[in-house]
Amino acid sequence: MGELKFGKHVKYIFSIEKEKDGFESVVMEHLRMNGAYWGLTTLDVLGKLGAVDQDEVVSWIMQCQHESGGFGGNIGHDPHVLYTLSAIQVLALFDKIDVLDVEKLVDISSLQNEDGSFTGDIWGETDTRFSYIAISSLAILQRLDKINVERAVKYIVSCKNLDGGFGCTPGAESHAGQIFCCVGALAITGSLHHVDKDLLGWWLCERQVKSGGLNGQPEKLPDVCYSWWVLSSLIMIDRVHWIDKDKLIEFILDCQDRENGGISDRPDDAVDIFHTYFGVAGLSLLEYPGLKAIDPAYALPVDVVNRIFLGK
Ligand SMILES: [Zn+2]
Repeated sequence: MGELKFGKHVKYIFSIEKEKDGFESVVMEHLRMNGAYWGLTTLDVLGKLGAVDQDEVVSWIMQCQHESGGFGGNIGHDPHVLYTLSAIQVLALFDKIDVLDVEKLVDISSLQNEDGSFTGDIWGETDTRFSYIAISSLAILQRLDKINVERAVKYIVSCKNLDGGFGCTPGAESHAGQIFCCVGALAITGSLHHVDKDLLGWWLCERQVKSGGLNGQPEKLPDVCYSWWVLSSLIMIDRVHWIDKDKLIEFILDCQDRENGGISDRPDDAVDIFHTYFGVAGLSLLEYPGLKAIDPAYALPVDVVNRIFLGK
């Protein structure tokens, strides 16, 4: 088995930040806030967050905030909860949550609908992803009291399927990304008793294919990003010992660009920051040596989560 190229991945993450006109930067333009979260969390898990100019990042993040309290993907872009959670997470990494005007941000609670579901922005698409994002954001800000948690949980439970998994809306088919969001939101709100752990554990374990990689739905190709969604869900429901961890580690390591750093979705594909993050975070969940531990529900390093909730 190969090994994780720590130094190369650190170099790769810094290189995308510098190369502003590169292909990936152009594609990532409107997603820059998510890119910052993926890149900086990866650096932290690799033990290299100290090499980042924190003040520069924090000042850029604050320029992406709107009057409404929400954050855009970049300066001058419309606010959306997808970027708002990333902004909060990056500030948490730097222990800078206190620069936020929390009262303004709890406006996220206004995105909750009568039935307990959430929309992602004022345009109104409903999705359990947004339930997770609102719940995780407010939990980090310690303001979960701002929403109707009971109704939020009830809505998520209404998206549970007969196979034990969850979809984006009631009746929508199970998908690993959506399962992470629902199980994560249930974990954060202390509601995991609503999950049928054996049934869901079985569905999630079936996501492992011959190569050791995980897919997001039956019959789909394996993809490094599912290492995160499937594994974190399995850990939250205490069934991670049901998969072959060594084979999954091997699959993720096979997706590395050993020359230039970065991780791709599948072996020999082009690398990107999204899969680099999910690969490294997946290896952290698999307790790969030398990586910081990451919390499966908050998708932040465990020491950051402890600092938020335990003040240490
Ligand atoms: Zn992927």
